[in-house]
Amino acid sequence: MCRTKLIEAKGLYKEKEVIVKNVYLRNLRNNLRKAILLAGDSQFLEATQEDRAIMFWPNGDPRPMSVQEKAQSEYLQSVKDKLYFGFNNSICICPVCGAMDKDMSFDYSGKKWFCIDCHKKRKAFHHNYK
Ligand SMILES: [Zn+2]
Repeated sequence: MCRTKLIEAKGLYKEKEVIVKNVYLRNLRNNLRKAILLAGDSQFLEATQEDRAIMFWPNGDPRPMSVQEKAQSEYLQSVKDKLYFGFNNSICICPVCGAMDKDMSFDYSGKKWFCIDCHKKRKAFHHNYK
């Protein structure tokens, strides 16, 4: 049904794979990933619209900002950064191909989740250029 495989190298766990074989569990996993993405997307869009309203006039020209507005804009940017990097570092999406419906593998050296296909390509690339 579901398998977590730890791949050990030189006494340290270097990789972890999470493979879900059961079709129903795969669908559940994929739908949960989509729900998380949609929740993050709406927060990102809200922060972007609020930041844009502070930085630009409705016609698109940049507008002067007060110190308080600059601080608010920086705060909104940090919210957007956290959402963006948090999602890209999560198990929900492969940062290379953008797949949300694949089994994932954690790369301890890069401290990120990749789909198993991209992780294999990444390992081959690094192996060839060592
Ligand atoms: Zn991928």
